[in-house]
Amino acid sequence: MIEETSKESIDQRIQMAADAYQFLKNSTIKERARFMNAVADKIEALGEELLATAHAETSLPLARLAGEKARTIGQWRSYAKAVSAGMYTEARIDLPQPEKQKGDLRKYNIGIGPVVVFGASNFPFAFSTAGGDTASAMGAGNPVIVKAHPAHPKTSQIMADAITDAVKESGWPEGIFGHVTGTSHDIGAYLTKHKDIKAVAFTGSLNGGKALFDMANQREEPIPVFAEMGSINPVFAFEHLLENRAEDLAKEYGSSLTLGVGQFCTNPGVFVALKGESLNRFTRALKNEIPGIAPVNMLHKGIFENFEKLKNIASAQSEVDVIAEVNAEANEWQGRAIVTETTGKNFIKNSMLSEEIFGPFGIIVACETPEEMLQIARQLKGQLTITVAATDEDVRQNIKLIDVLKDKCGRFLFNGMPTGVEVVYAMQHGGPFPSTTDARFTSVGPDAVKRFVRPISFQNWPDEFLPEELKNANSLQISRIVDGEIHSGSLKL
Ligand code: NAP
Repeated sequence: MIEETSKESIDQRIQMAADAYQFLKNSTIKERARFMNAVADKIEALGEELLATAHAETSLPLARLAGEKARTIGQWRSYAKAVSAGMYTEARIDLPQPEKQKGDLRKYNIGIGPVVVFGASNFPFAFSTAGGDTASAMGAGNPVIVKAHPAHPKTSQIMADAITDAVKESGWPEGIFGHVTGTSHDIGAYLTKHKDIKAVAFTGSLNGGKALFDMANQREEPIPVFAEMGSINPVFAFEHLLENRAEDLAKEYGSSLTLGVGQFCTNPGVFVALKGESLNRFTRALKNEIPGIAPVNMLHKGIFENFEKLKNIASAQSEVDVIAEVNAEANEWQGRAIVTETTGKNFIKNSMLSEEIFGPFGIIVACETPEEMLQIARQLKGQLTITVAATDEDVRQNIKLIDVLKDKCGRFLFNGMPTGVEVVYAMQHGGPFPSTTDARFTSVGPDAVKRFVRPISFQNWPDEFLPEELKNANSLQISRIVDGEIHSGSLKL
């Protein structure tokens, strides 16, 4: 039974968060980095109970959860390191030039205010209560209120307690972190519309993310919603590569498609290639691969039912054939992988086939001509990832099509498979709509912090009253742009 946090209690938490922002906005990057490392320590110290609880609530295997816990700790620590180095402070100083009647101008990035984070169902640690959105919003200098995902309430509470402990030990105001629970959309809507909330971070369905985005834009004061939503992550395979590696590629594609019962936002749901013997070899190999994959419980009943419904609708579309599926007996909530095939013409004509089906569902699109592949590329909506399976020669021969694909994704892969999102600086996890609501930002990697800052410029302020990041002494020893040049020392004025 999940407790519904009352409106009065939510109001109180938002008020506390607004007050805490007044404290946090004046904290330095070093202080925030210390706090973030303290949260990482708290999560690291959580023992078996965390993994056992998450396993019971999500059905995710313990080994995967152990890996996700390590990743989550790594996120807090690596984001802390980047924050501490001043990477998102982006300090710029233009010294006065009295002879030109130009004053002193100093700009840096400050937090934007209380942020609401919606916990995601498919990563109970790394994208949920203590996940990357919370770490990046706090690193930027903002209090966070998490709306717990109803599919793992106990896991969420354990993580919330760890963050709360870190807040208490830091001596910082309690309102820096809040946790609200419930199973009704009303809570999320109420938080998003509240005047003291200044940004929203979300990972989940297109319907959910778009609804929150629209609410935020209809407010008297519109606020940003960084929503990561649906993506079909197409793989475009080309002639020479397919001829050389059809069977190996089928293995790689089959494993990526069915990894974690297909419940990854980077799951490669669509495979596009020219029809012919190489594609037939790929399909035959996939037919051998898929039936052997054991059915596994999906994350929650809603996700399972959604998967069942959509896979049945998609496979029943005209000119769509099921080429491989898992027929093994499955218990309630166990997702069974399925791969279908259609023609390029039909894929172009039937827009339902390019909607995300969250789970192990794949569609092979066999095209008549390279022009048909180009038309599919042009028609594609925005994606988190697109993969080009090609030799160098294939790239040279298909450069026009490949250039179109660049416009459609946040991460562009040359061979390999898109599942597995590394938490590094050069990661881009965010693409054109509808994969996310703002393709300019990433939700994975330290650059995720950038979503939650805004620039403020100080004109002619005495050094004493400037934030530490902009003072002449540069006591934080960060790199700054001074009069257009990179500068890491203090300013002797
Ligand atoms: P969801 O239905 O989008 O819900 C995610 C969170 O957003 C929940 O806390 C939910 O709150 C809240 N929410 C959703 N719609 C809302 C609305 N209109 N107003 C206010 N709050 C709203 O996602 P899910 O439960 O994780 O999974 C459902 C489907 O989402 C999946 O079948 C899949 O298609 C997709 N999904 C995609 C990704 C991805 O990375 N692309 C990841 C996970 C899920 P309440 O439920 O408490 O109301």
